[in-house]
Amino acid sequence: MRTPIIAGNWKMHKTVNEALDYFASFKGAAKEGVEIVLCVPFPALYPLAKEAKGTGIGIGAQNMHFEEAGAFTGEVSPGMLTSLGVEYVILGHSERRTLFGETDEAVNQKVQAAVKHGLTPIICVGETLEEREEDRTREIVRDQVVKAISGFRSEEVKKMVLAYEPVWAIGSGKASTAEDAQEVIQFIRNVVADQYDQQVANEIRIQYGGSVKPNNIDSFLAQPDIDGALVGGASLDPESFGQLVAAA
Ligand code: PEP
Repeated sequence: MRTPIIAGNWKMHKTVNEALDYFASFKGAAKEGVEIVLCVPFPALYPLAKEAKGTGIGIGAQNMHFEEAGAFTGEVSPGMLTSLGVEYVILGHSERRTLFGETDEAVNQKVQAAVKHGLTPIICVGETLEEREEDRTREIVRDQVVKAISGFRSEEVKKMVLAYEPVWAIGSGKASTAEDAQEVIQFIRNVVADQYDQQVANEIRIQYGGSVKPNNIDSFLAQPDIDGALVGGASLDPESFGQLVAAA
């Protein structure tokens, strides 16, 4: 049985005080049997990781560098994250890929670094609208998944989290249908089976992300291969994110 994982991606929102206020009203939403993660901006990581200790809510970053240290102005290393009590990191989000030029190779290096440091990577993959219209969804998603998860031991892959996030659904209010998301996520599970084995494919968690809201989450969670959601906009309000957790 795979434990559902509901993760919020705040993107570049909330000051430290706003983050602490949010956490104070959200922490009661923690729920047995559901893994809950808040991926927050770098400045809020330490104060929230301190608050989150023992609450059953995990704290994640939204990016990191793959190197340990060095002349990389403006970057943050995996060891710096774990030293704060951070346990998760989103890698390869489409905004990182399109706005900051992150390549599949860089995503793989970051996944390597995350695993080495015991961070759970939440690896985002997904096609653009143009690619979907050209009927290339499977090709694009396959390529991103294969590159991101190559070079690991089965035991390591099982603990990773994949997030299928069609780019056109992110922040657009136009979610995928649950049936389409299920089809692609089942396909991703088969890709993992091809690359590793069926047991790894059965155990790895795969989320759906893209305009998930309290009024549509049930349809995604009802799908056999969808193990939770990665949520942007609807995670910014503690009440609506609490509703998403309650649905899981
Ligand atoms: C995201 O940024 O990962 C995301 C899914 O955003 P939204 O829920 O706002 O579409």
